[in-house]
Amino acid sequence: MAIHIPRRQLFINGEWRQPVLNRRIPIINPSTEQTIGDIPAATAEDVELAVDAARRAFSRNKGTDWAAASGAVRAKYLRAIAAKITKRKSELANLEAIDNGKPLDEAAWDIDDVAGCFEYYADLAEGLDAKQKAPVSLPMENFKSYVLKEPLGVVALITPWNYPLLIATWKVAAALAAGCTAILKPSELASVTCLELAEVCMEVGLPPGVLNILTGLGPEAGAPLASHPHVNKISFTGSSITGSKIMTAAAQQVKPVSLELGGKSPIVIFEDVDLDKAAEWTAFGCFWTNGQICSATSRLIVHESIAAEFLNKLVKWTKNIKISDPFEEGCRLGPVVGEGQYEKILKFISTAKTEGATILSGGGRPEHLKKGFFIQPTIITDITTSMQIWREEVFGPVLCVKTFSTEDEATELANDSHYGLGAAVLSDDLERCERITKDFQAGIVWVNCSQPCFYQAPWGGNKRSGFGRDLGEWGLENYLSVKQVTRYVSDEPW
Ligand code: NAD
Repeated sequence: MAIHIPRRQLFINGEWRQPVLNRRIPIINPSTEQTIGDIPAATAEDVELAVDAARRAFSRNKGTDWAAASGAVRAKYLRAIAAKITKRKSELANLEAIDNGKPLDEAAWDIDDVAGCFEYYADLAEGLDAKQKAPVSLPMENFKSYVLKEPLGVVALITPWNYPLLIATWKVAAALAAGCTAILKPSELASVTCLELAEVCMEVGLPPGVLNILTGLGPEAGAPLASHPHVNKISFTGSSITGSKIMTAAAQQVKPVSLELGGKSPIVIFEDVDLDKAAEWTAFGCFWTNGQICSATSRLIVHESIAAEFLNKLVKWTKNIKISDPFEEGCRLGPVVGEGQYEKILKFISTAKTEGATILSGGGRPEHLKKGFFIQPTIITDITTSMQIWREEVFGPVLCVKTFSTEDEATELANDSHYGLGAAVLSDDLERCERITKDFQAGIVWVNCSQPCFYQAPWGGNKRSGFGRDLGEWGLENYLSVKQVTRYVSDEPW
C-alpha cells in the first residue's frame, strides 16, 4: 500500500518554517526498515522563534490575546480541530501505522480518541467561563474574596512515540482549553501525525503562535525548550531518565512541571477468576501496542494454585496473536517502533536468560518475518525479584511471571517497584479487590480488567512514574494558576 508522507517543515507562528540550520531526520518504516521520508530537526535557534511566537500570542497587547479570549471562543477552535481530524481519520491512521508500526485499526481508534479529546476539552474550556470569580467564604464580613483561574502562559509539551498524536493531544487540547499558548515537541521516532496537526490548525485558522510544533532530537530541541526562561510550564511524557533531566531544568528556574514517566505495572490474578477471561486481560494488558505502553501490566503475579493451568491458557492465547505488517487484515502486533528499541528488548530477554530465568514462550523474532523490527510476545518464568527483567521497564512485549500464596504476599510483590503507574487486580471477590486497590502504590488501578483509558479520567503515577495528572479536569488544572482577589467592601475605616 503506497502511503504519501507529506514533507513538512516546523510549524512556528502559524506558518511552515524551514529549520534555521536546515537539518532533517529520516523516517524509517519499522515494518520494512526502509527510509520513507524525513522530518525537520529543530535546534535552539528554532526554539527561540517558537517561544517568541507563543509569547506574542499569549500577551495582552502584542499578540492574538488567546488567554483573554473567552473559553467559548477557544472551544470553537478546539471543536473545529476535532471535526477536521475526524474528516482526515483514515489518512491520519495510515500515517500513524506506517510511522509507529501499530496495527492500522488500533491507529484508527487512536485518531477517534484524538478527536474525542479535543471535543472534551472544548466542553471544559466553556465550563471555565462559568467558573470564573469563584467566591471564597471568609470569616470577616468587611472583606470579599474570590478566585480567578488563569492560564499559566507559554507551555512546553514534550511527548513520546508510543501514542504520537494521542498523547500530544492530551496535552495540547488541555493547554489550549486553559488559555495557554504552547510549543509541542513530539518524539523524533514518530512525529508525522503531529506535523499533520499543524496543517489542521492552519485549516481552522487557529491564531498564529497559539500552537507551535517543533520536531527534532531530545537534546537539540527538547532540552533548549525545557530550559527556556520564557517557558512557564513543562508538561512531559516519556522515560524516567529524561523526566529527571526535565525536572532539573525546571528546578533551575523554579517553574512548574508535570511528569508522566515509565512503569513496571503489576497484574494480580486470584484463584477465583474465570481463567479464560483472565488470560485475555493479561495478554491484552501486556502485549497491546507491543507492550510499548507506560502502564503495560508487565509483571504477572498469579496465585500458585492456578499458575500452571493459567500459564497454559496464556501461552495458547499469545500463540494466536497475529504478528504482521500493521496494514495486514487481522494484525494484532506490528513491529516495535525502531531498531534501537528492538535491540534493547532482545537484550533484556537475553539478560533474563543469563540471570537464570526461563523463556516459557516467544523470546525473539517470529520466523515468518525476515525484515522489520518484529518480536514475539514473550513470557518469562523462574524470576527472582532482584532480576533486571522484574525491576526495569522493558517497553516491549515481555511479561514476567511470579506466583504468590497469600494476599499480603501478592500486594508486597505488586508494590516491589520504583515505579507506581498502573496496577490491576482480577478476582471475583470485590471486597478483596477493594482492599488491594487501597494497598496498591499506583496512580491508576484496574479491577477485573487492564489498560482501558478514558480521557475523562485522570492519568498519571506515583513514585518514579512521575507526578501530576493528564486528562479529565485534572489535565486542565495542569495549565491553570489560581489567583486570589480580596476586596475591602465596608464603608467603615479599617
Ligand atoms: P524519551 O524520554 O526518550 O523521550 C520522550 C521525549 O523527550 C521525546 O520527545 C524526546 O525527544 C524528548 N527528550 C529526550 N531527551 C530530552 C532532553 N534531554 N530534554 C528534553 N527533551 C528530551 O521517551 P520515549 O522513548 O519517547 O518514550 C518511552 C517512555 O515514555 C517510556 O519510559 C514510557 O513508559 C514513557 N511513557 C509514559 C507515559 C505515561 O503516561 N506515564 C505514556 C507514554 C510513555
